[in-house]
Amino acid sequence: MAQKLYQTVIDHINDRISSEDFKIGDFIPSESQLSKHLNVSVGTIRKAIDKLENNNILHRYHGKGTCVKSNLLTMKNDFRAERLDLAAAFRFAARLNMHEAVANHFSLAVNKSGSKFLLNPIGKHFSEISASDLILIDANNKDTMNHQDAPDPTAWAIHSALHRNNPQARCILHAHPQYATILSSLDDKEMKPIDQNTMRFYDRVSIDRDYSGMGLGKEAERLSTLLGDNPVLMMGNHGVLTAARTVASAFDELYYFERSCQTLIGAYQTGKKIHVVSDKVAKKTAQQWIDYDASDLHFAALKRILDKEEPDYKN
Ligand SMILES: [Zn+2]
Repeated sequence: MAQKLYQTVIDHINDRISSEDFKIGDFIPSESQLSKHLNVSVGTIRKAIDKLENNNILHRYHGKGTCVKSNLLTMKNDFRAERLDLAAAFRFAARLNMHEAVANHFSLAVNKSGSKFLLNPIGKHFSEISASDLILIDANNKDTMNHQDAPDPTAWAIHSALHRNNPQARCILHAHPQYATILSSLDDKEMKPIDQNTMRFYDRVSIDRDYSGMGLGKEAERLSTLLGDNPVLMMGNHGVLTAARTVASAFDELYYFERSCQTLIGAYQTGKKIHVVSDKVAKKTAQQWIDYDASDLHFAALKRILDKEEPDYKN
């Protein structure tokens, strides 16, 4: 019973931090106030605060009170629907060989401004990521990398800069799939409209031609300003990033972009003259893709396959 009460206090404080009722630097109510409010003993409140202090969420200033140190929380059951979608995206990206070792990162915003987002934890292979593994990050929390559950440094730098500077980009998928990365390494990094898939990306790709090292610090900030309203950022000499309002849409863009790159690179490899369609046809077809939008149906089908074949992604 004591264990249960103590967890109730932790959940209450986590909820109030998550809803920004308690912000970083705020003093929370005193132990005796919380005791009265939650109708539990001061000893139980103290145990809960001990635990949250050990996890770097709260900090006691002796004689002054307890303040919120971090809102990087790993609340395993919060944002359940978002966690399921993002975990499914990791699992299917691995099936499509779009992962690279334990690098690469996907994120999904969970608050209105986009400053808080779910992200993969450091060191996990895409194929083993489950819903509860995803960590909750605050792009404005400069203390993030000191936390015990700190993410990969490039994941933190790239995704926090992108979510801060692109609130419309709720879901951001960054990977180094083979053919997109080959196209990113060519002098001409443009997606030529040579088939129906490649036409989907006509005038919808931002291209970065100024790679200057791993996505850390100023490089991450620079990258975050290049996306604009496009769903794809071709990261020159590096890889690709897709961004959209939902995981389903961002995944659909990533899937079709890699397929398009495969077709274009294959066409280049034939050495034959390539027929690039007119701007007019490419533009019209790109708009038809937008109107057609089967991303939700596509992602629902992928989740049905995972539900049957590897349901542990939902854990
Ligand atoms: Zn990368």
